[in-house]
Amino acid sequence: MRRLVAGNWKMNGLRADGVALARDLAGRVKAAPRASELLLCPPATLLAPVAEAIAGSGIALGGQDCHAEAKGAHTGDIAAPMLKDAGCAYVLVGHSERRRGHHEDDAAVRAKAAAAAAAGLCAIVCVGETAAERDGGRTEAVVVRQLRGSVPPKPNGARLAIAYEPVWAIGTGRTPTLRDVAGVHARIRAALRELVAEADGVRILYGGSVTPANARELLSIANVDGALVGGASLVADDFWSIAQACG
Ligand code: PEP
Repeated sequence: MRRLVAGNWKMNGLRADGVALARDLAGRVKAAPRASELLLCPPATLLAPVAEAIAGSGIALGGQDCHAEAKGAHTGDIAAPMLKDAGCAYVLVGHSERRRGHHEDDAAVRAKAAAAAAAGLCAIVCVGETAAERDGGRTEAVVVRQLRGSVPPKPNGARLAIAYEPVWAIGTGRTPTLRDVAGVHARIRAALRELVAEADGVRILYGGSVTPANARELLSIANVDGALVGGASLVADDFWSIAQACG
């Protein structure tokens, strides 16, 4: 399986910065091709210029969200076929910032993941527990419940990836212990085997305060098939060093 390092730029970046960052990374990949795959998920306004900046480099492009319908009267939303048309191969769905800030439940996330797969995109379905859920010893139960509710029925393995992102680790500088990450990723793999064919080919990314300092050990854990990186993906040297740690 080809490992994946994804940069989620969130709502950051104007054209000049975004294009400079994408060009910088494209230049590095061209100079030193990688075994792992790199993915940039810029804000929607930057999809076109970033697509141009990374053209021919092998870096993939992704959206940060999509609507469950392919078109229609949904002001402000973006449909999966539009992302595909803009050059995307991936889309994040169910990021905790959308689950919380836009009240997206598992059913909504599942509909988005299904729409993404129908459009030919790989949906990266994000799951993860809150601090209260973790403190209550409910991490694995919550993650499995989210997986069962958010993974579409009969997804093609190639059109699905999972990102385990503990909500309390996102943007906080805190990460779970390596043992905890190993346990949750193994549980996700087991749950995927019940849910989808080709479950062993589905990449499970870890996300939440991944930095150059902790990437190597996080990425050495079994069933951690890559990383979803927020803050550190906005700094070329940091994102590149995480990509190096991924092999
Ligand atoms: C994220 O929000 O997807 C994320 C992983 O953020 P950070 O790396 O900044 O914790």
